[in-house]
Amino acid sequence: MGLTMIKERVTATVLMVAACFSVSGCTQDQAPDIAYTMIEEPFGEDGSTVHFAKEDPFAEEIVSTMTDARETVEAFWGRPFPEPVKAILSPDRAHFNTLFPPEWGIGKTQCWMVGVGVADFLAVLSPSIWGVEDCGHDGEDKLHIRDIFVHELAHVYHGQNNPTRDFTGAEEIGWFAEGIGVLVAGQLERDKLSSPQEAIRNGAAPKKLKKAWSGQYRYGVSGSIVAYIDAEYGRDVLFELLSVTSEDELLSRLNTSEAALLDAWESWVLSASSNK
Ligand SMILES: [Zn+2]
Repeated sequence: MGLTMIKERVTATVLMVAACFSVSGCTQDQAPDIAYTMIEEPFGEDGSTVHFAKEDPFAEEIVSTMTDARETVEAFWGRPFPEPVKAILSPDRAHFNTLFPPEWGIGKTQCWMVGVGVADFLAVLSPSIWGVEDCGHDGEDKLHIRDIFVHELAHVYHGQNNPTRDFTGAEEIGWFAEGIGVLVAGQLERDKLSSPQEAIRNGAAPKKLKKAWSGQYRYGVSGSIVAYIDAEYGRDVLFELLSVTSEDELLSRLNTSEAALLDAWESWVLSASSNK
């Protein structure tokens, strides 16, 4: 689903990606699969921009997709983005790979990785080639496309409200960042997402918060722990948590312990599922 993995959020500086913001196109070590020209269009009224290849079949939809995604994220929080958003639609995998500098340790992105989001930018591999690559993302599925953009944009919103900006050093709460992406995008409601109830019943519920973002249930588990915090403590408290950078800080803001939080979450998940 979106992408996903802790490495999706790592150090990002505007300089590192400056080549690909260029209106004249990307100069890069890796040759692009096709020739293209990167152009830029504004969206929203705060100076936010989206960069894309004018030859990209998804070009016609990108501005409306970003506009809708932004409305979804801002409606969830009831607050606007603190800063303008820079969005990039990568026309091919070679271009997408250039957005991950060597020091991130990723090399070429794996097939299933189609998005990245930090305070300074988000980038999504064009849905027009998801089907070509056949990596588990359906480029014809409008709802799935929407979910990916909203998920990445939720990471941008989170990054803009977090002192790290790109979550470097905050890896231990990667589950929280991913859970926010899942919850804001509404991905918990999609049936492809592995179920948190199933994780608990199969004995795969995490005993440690750090383990929430691992294994086959990571989306459902991380997303539903964040959904539990949202339901139990409220949206304002959840918003305040966007600024935390460690597990200790997160738990102390909630005035609870790791074990108590996980126990309460399990009970909440099981009682919610028994009410259905
Ligand atoms: Zn994510």
